[in-house]
Amino acid sequence: MNKIIYYNKENINKFYKRIWIYKVICALRKKIILNYCGKEYKSIKTCPKDIVEVLKCIEILNERNKKKRLELVYDYTCEYLDNEFLGKNLCGFKNDMCACNRHKPKDKRRSSCCESGRTKTICDKFDNKNKECTIKSISCKLFVCPYLRKKGVKLSVNNVPYSKHFLSLRQKAICYTSFFKDKDYVIDKFTKFYKMP
Ligand code: SF4
Ligand code: SF4
Repeated sequence: MNKIIYYNKENINKFYKRIWIYKVICALRKKIILNYCGKEYKSIKTCPKDIVEVLKCIEILNERNKKKRLELVYDYTCEYLDNEFLGKNLCGFKNDMCACNRHKPKDKRRSSCCESGRTKTICDKFDNKNKECTIKSISCKLFVCPYLRKKGVKLSVNNVPYSKHFLSLRQKAICYTSFFKDKDYVIDKFTKFYKMP
């Protein structure tokens, strides 16, 4: 059986306050369907921009398979962090060098934090041709260097709706301590500490 929840532009923000109720409803094997401004939405492809995050949360709520649910949380969190960093160019890349390193003396410069300051070698997970990481490491994506922190950039799992609402404290700690590890590794660790928060 489905549970239809009704929201409009004025009260859509209340969805997150009520998310614990929806978790209980889903635990009773019901599916949540969003009715927004008088219309039901199930797909993020056809919905208005302002409910994309809410619909992704509903997709996570409605997913009964524990592993698939954690994979959704992982993917959506990474996507959110990419949009923050790449979308806003927070690292200020110019000529393949980030702002933080451009401001350092020449002998201390690196291209980015994917390059070792000590050995000057680039991480083996980095694809130098396409200039991108070949794995999806949630810990690397969450990393904010002191230079950016001083500039006011703050990012934590609690800034991202999916990791904030769907990961337990231990799973959040795993997000901060799994540098250079891929999705399978992290999901495996998440599963061991699975507990619907
Ligand atoms: S987090 Fe800091 S060191 Fe890493 S790429 Fe961005 S600006 Fe550079
Ligand atoms: S694993 Fe981390 S350090 Fe290595 S390339 Fe990817 S983002 Fe950079």
